[in-house]
Amino acid sequence: METAEIRQFQMYINGEWTPSESGETFNVVSPATGEILAKLPKGGPEDVKKAVESAVAAQEIIARMPNAKRTELATKVAEAIRANVSDFARDLTLEHGKPIRESIGEVADSAPNVLWQAEDLKRLEAPVLRSYTKPDMMFVMQREPLGTVAVITPWNFPWVMPAEFVVQAMLAGNSVVFKPASTTPISAVHLMECVDQAGVPKGVINLITGPGNTAGMALIEHPMIDGICFTGDTATGEVISKRAGLKKMSLELGGLGPLIIMDDANIEKAVEDIVYGCYTTSGQCCCANERIFVHEKIHRQIVDQLTSRVRELKLGDPLKEDTDMGPMNNEPTVAKVEENVHDAIDKGAKLVAGGRRAQGFPTKLYYPPTVVDNVTPHMQFNYIETFGPVAPIFEFSNLDQAINMANEPRYGLSMAIHTANLKTAFYAAQRLKAGQVNINESVYFWDYHHPWGGFRRSGYGRVAGKWTLESFTELKTININIGRSEFQAGG
Ligand code: NDP
Repeated sequence: METAEIRQFQMYINGEWTPSESGETFNVVSPATGEILAKLPKGGPEDVKKAVESAVAAQEIIARMPNAKRTELATKVAEAIRANVSDFARDLTLEHGKPIRESIGEVADSAPNVLWQAEDLKRLEAPVLRSYTKPDMMFVMQREPLGTVAVITPWNFPWVMPAEFVVQAMLAGNSVVFKPASTTPISAVHLMECVDQAGVPKGVINLITGPGNTAGMALIEHPMIDGICFTGDTATGEVISKRAGLKKMSLELGGLGPLIIMDDANIEKAVEDIVYGCYTTSGQCCCANERIFVHEKIHRQIVDQLTSRVRELKLGDPLKEDTDMGPMNNEPTVAKVEENVHDAIDKGAKLVAGGRRAQGFPTKLYYPPTVVDNVTPHMQFNYIETFGPVAPIFEFSNLDQAINMANEPRYGLSMAIHTANLKTAFYAAQRLKAGQVNINESVYFWDYHHPWGGFRRSGYGRVAGKWTLESFTELKTININIGRSEFQAGG
């Protein structure tokens, strides 16, 4: 593992690189090496006030800017990301812990993510209707920006999450105050460098760094914030939704992603999808495969094949090209994984692979790919998001039983079924209560432009593709009396 120097970064407020009012900073520590990578300003309510006031003052500028110019700015941000993929990816791996291959993919994916909505803006439509009751009335609908919005993002995808929201909020005509997670703020600073380089007008996009429960909360509660786009834990989402009052909100929260594998499924493909869904980013993903429901007839085969596949996965230095899994991002997340594994074993589940922190690494955050068999619904795996590299295997004997178990904890982000039978697939897809159901594909699958969001405890609102622009705008209706006499009377 190479050594990183300690760097000093600032917040980005009103187009200036800014320390916190208090002068306080916090450290970003690499989960891979345990070294301090950087110091960032510990922003507080005073800094939030300054950032929101800058954003409010700049909102008219962006709202009045022609769409062509906004699209040009977003394109320049995407170009700046593309020009720096390898440097940004290295910092992402160092602050997050994910393998460099994944980091390169994540940073590279951020550019098309921005460009997608830049294209969508060109074709953003709203309908025109004629009145049902009064023939002279016509209703013209248009989409208008929310105003000044807060974007708060988690640590698991420090590039893709902000790249789905921050520039898009601006594209829709909003000014933005962005607060990233405190364990991965360096990627957010790099995004601001791209924003700065693109020439986004001062104050339109601002970055605040600092603790969620002070800086984040001050942002949520600020009376001049018109909309909130929050991605994070369901418990935090619940707090925010109580404290935000009547602000417009999209909440992208946790999931307990179930995969149902029927006895007619393609076993090799199912096993590969489990590996992808459970161990990518060490399972620290909202749409990770958190629960695997296997038909009793193929249970043994799935467990055996998965176990031998897991033995091939390489846990190690995330900067090395051939590493499959690096360290997890932070101690509370590893502790939660341990708790779910211990709970299951105490209640009778069988540990098949992994199951305890790996030794001999620079930090205690390296957790191996783990398989736990004979998991049952009363174990924590079934109702507390593990958010780690664990494949908990449940057994079922009929499809309705599996669907009921999948729906039971009332999380509904991404769910999947593997079967060779189209009727079975659609029967399940109709009954699974989730924002997306994947058929013969991993729970983890997502794309740039299909609506993304959860049912129930997984949040509300839809993002990605044109839905991001819709979530950052309000629909306004202008009702016009087009009768001749009305216009003549008005001159
Ligand atoms: P948290 O909810 O802990 O934190 C998310 C963000 O909110 C961070 O920036 C955090 O700041 C901030 N925050 C924390 N408390 C508050 C508060 N009281 N007011 C305002 N802001 C606050 O989530 P994690 O970062 O641990 O992320 C993991 C979770 O995110 C998982 O549950 C995962 O499923 C979910 N997620 C959902 C996605 C989806 O699309 N549905 C996508 C990705 C993740 P700080 O870091 O300073 O505490």
